[in-house]
Amino acid sequence: MKIAVLPGDGIGPEVTREALRVLDALSLPGLTLFEGDVGGVAYRRHGHPLPDETLAMARQADAVLFGAVGDPSCDTLEAHLRPEQAVLGLRKDLDLFANLRPAKAFEGLEDLSALRPEIAGAIDLVIVRELTGDVYFGEKARGQTEDGRREGWDRMAYAEDEVRRIAHTAFRAAGTRRGKVTSVDKANVLETSRLWREVVEEVAAEYPDISLEHMYVDNAAMQLVRDPGAFDVVLTGNLFGDILSDQASMCVGSIGLLASASLGERQTEYGTFGLYEPIHGSAPDIAGKGIANPMATILSAAMMLRHSFGREDDAARIERAVAAALADGLRGGDLGGSDNCEAIGTAVCQRL
Ligand code: ATP
Ligand code: MG
Repeated sequence: MKIAVLPGDGIGPEVTREALRVLDALSLPGLTLFEGDVGGVAYRRHGHPLPDETLAMARQADAVLFGAVGDPSCDTLEAHLRPEQAVLGLRKDLDLFANLRPAKAFEGLEDLSALRPEIAGAIDLVIVRELTGDVYFGEKARGQTEDGRREGWDRMAYAEDEVRRIAHTAFRAAGTRRGKVTSVDKANVLETSRLWREVVEEVAAEYPDISLEHMYVDNAAMQLVRDPGAFDVVLTGNLFGDILSDQASMCVGSIGLLASASLGERQTEYGTFGLYEPIHGSAPDIAGKGIANPMATILSAAMMLRHSFGREDDAARIERAVAAALADGLRGGDLGGSDNCEAIGTAVCQRL
């Protein structure tokens, strides 16, 4: 089991170190780690945010554990040299088209949610967002109308195979959860959404044990704050998924707690190849102070064990250890506490 570890910038190395300590505490047999440069640190050392050797390392690994990229001193660089390009480049090169973001309430943290505690406490969902198509990757242009008004446009398009593969990811995920997929679109207005619905229906026929409902995105945004406990797997396109996944994360609480996986279709001998990272960024404002909360990265490592290495039991053990540490009152600065990064890592290791 080969893991490419890419700590990146800012708090990335601090939180990644704690996730590695947690993996180490599990004493998994046959784990080999490779470490590479990515982001601003890679630009300074190699002249590019995603050097060839880093890409090669990621390609030959079974999974990538990613910290964060982003470095204010790189803001004046040309667009293709900025640290943020590294994660886009990795997703594209490794064909990671499915972004999974679980959002689950933690006991005792309901008061941090933007929602009422009894509503927030019921959240246990995962957003499955398509990552490589949609309006973000369609043709774009700026120009003028015939009568001289400035105009801009972006083409929104999905091909059936792009919808089919992300739908399979969602139905498979539902099979390991509560067996329900909510597919989110805007089929009353958009042609892409009508295709989306058609293909999702076809895929659903292959999963008779999973229930499927369709929901318009405006209604989904409303239901996500009204009754988030009703969602299990939320399947959606790139644009709607971008918006809904940020909304869902704030329903749970802190940015320092939320993990993500980006998966492709490639199977290794252990599971699905994927890239795992916390949803937060490099947090330059607190970098180097040792006060970042590493839980999001630790939980990302748990997702890695689940999806890329088929080690559900170990993944669940890590998740229980994090939940226990929170229940015992461990609080990083993002949760209004003062426990530092290393202390939180140690507390999670002890509870394993
Ligand atoms: P980037 O451009 O890298 O995304 P950003 O500043 O836009 O950086 P984040 O890095 O996610 O966004 O940080 C947003 C805020 O949340 C910052 O104030 C940061 O200190 C805080 N924050 C982010 N992650 C953590 C964490 N793991 N622990 C504590 N605070 C965090
Ligand atoms: Mg950011």
